[in-house]
Amino acid sequence: MGAKDTVIKLHNTKTRKKEVFEPIDASNVRMYVCGPTVYDRAHLGNARPVVVFDVLYRLLREVYGADQVTYARNFTDVDDKINARAAESGRPIGDITAETTQWFLDDMGELGALQPNHMPRATEYIPQMVAMIGGLIAKGHAYAAEGHVLFAVDSWKAQYGKLSGRSVDDMIAGARVEVAPYKKNPMDFVLWKPSTNEQPGWDSPWGRGRPGWHIECSAMSYELLGETFDIHGGGNDLMFPHHENEIAQSCCAHPEGEFAQYWLHNEMLQVEGKKMSKSLGNFFTVRDLLDQGYPGEVIRLVFLQTHYRKPMDWTAGKAEQAERTLRKWYSQAEQALDNGEVHPGIIGALADDLNTAGAIAELHQLSLADDVVALRASMQFLGMMGKEIPAWAGKPDIDLSSFEEKLFETRQKAMESKDFSEADRLKAAYVEAGLEVRMSKTGVELVPGAGFDPAKLEAL
Ligand SMILES: [Zn+2]
Repeated sequence: MGAKDTVIKLHNTKTRKKEVFEPIDASNVRMYVCGPTVYDRAHLGNARPVVVFDVLYRLLREVYGADQVTYARNFTDVDDKINARAAESGRPIGDITAETTQWFLDDMGELGALQPNHMPRATEYIPQMVAMIGGLIAKGHAYAAEGHVLFAVDSWKAQYGKLSGRSVDDMIAGARVEVAPYKKNPMDFVLWKPSTNEQPGWDSPWGRGRPGWHIECSAMSYELLGETFDIHGGGNDLMFPHHENEIAQSCCAHPEGEFAQYWLHNEMLQVEGKKMSKSLGNFFTVRDLLDQGYPGEVIRLVFLQTHYRKPMDWTAGKAEQAERTLRKWYSQAEQALDNGEVHPGIIGALADDLNTAGAIAELHQLSLADDVVALRASMQFLGMMGKEIPAWAGKPDIDLSSFEEKLFETRQKAMESKDFSEADRLKAAYVEAGLEVRMSKTGVELVPGAGFDPAKLEAL
């Protein structure tokens, strides 16, 4: 069975069922994923949907053909968080958004994520947003009030909340909604808001202002993918209100279409069993991890070990294990040429609602069977290597026992002479090379950390 005959099944949030994926047009399979707001480095949780939907993109390309898939992911480059960052740093907004956009692309590239076909920036689609908002007002789904334009949830009450499984009345009762005097219904959400002279703004029929966040994705997905397209993805924290509002806007502005056919949502990320947060001190960016010496491929493999609809727990232990696994796989893949095919078991696992853990299990089997040709092709397919083995994996696996003995003997001598300077120097050099030094009465144990650099040890 070739990849072309593969039946893909995806869990559709819209129906809460795993369904056979049937594209609207197999010669142009279309996917939209909500992208980042560009004001800071992407944290590890931001990277999860990028990797999840990169795997789906790769699968779709494998099954339908690389030129038959269109993937769009936006950059939100107009937002109050960006305005705040500009105000506190004194830097122009354009500098901040350009810099953080490039950071995002660089960091996600390190994780092996392919760039989408379209990466629209919100500020490049303001006229399209204004046109869509005008259309919503004309159809009675939105209204202007005090320089704002609001979506009238009551105009679409029966449908609003279906994706996330809530009714408008429940939402009003349970949600913390922003109460504003100009809102007809407290659930009504902003399509357009007024800007002060200091804030970025564009002229519109409702005065100088800027778009709300939700309208961006509706306008850009319509421009790039049409009124009906196949897949819409994002983190499950976006399901309400963001995705609910996207559906309301798009379906009301373009009632001839159905917006997204399949909705996929990834679960959130934790760190060592806890929610990642600045107050817990376990908050870090992808760049922090890369700088600490965790290769991007290691981060990617840790991610892929957990199914996208389960919470994913990042731990240092998993990262160390993943690095050992990858070193072994690369040493095998290095022996092969680029003439292999992706193992069908891996396509099969991914076709079953992106069972990435199953795909990784298949890689372990290929490694055990020493099927280096299929292992190499399959690792490339899963985004864990390009044409070359990553440089870090080519570093020799060094025998640490002689270094352990050297430190132990030096310390034994120091105990007699009471001069510990040489032993301290040696220990500091090992730590500098990225080793954890465990000393006991009977010996020394050296444990390589994620940033271990054998070259530094060899120079001693
Ligand atoms: Zn969105």
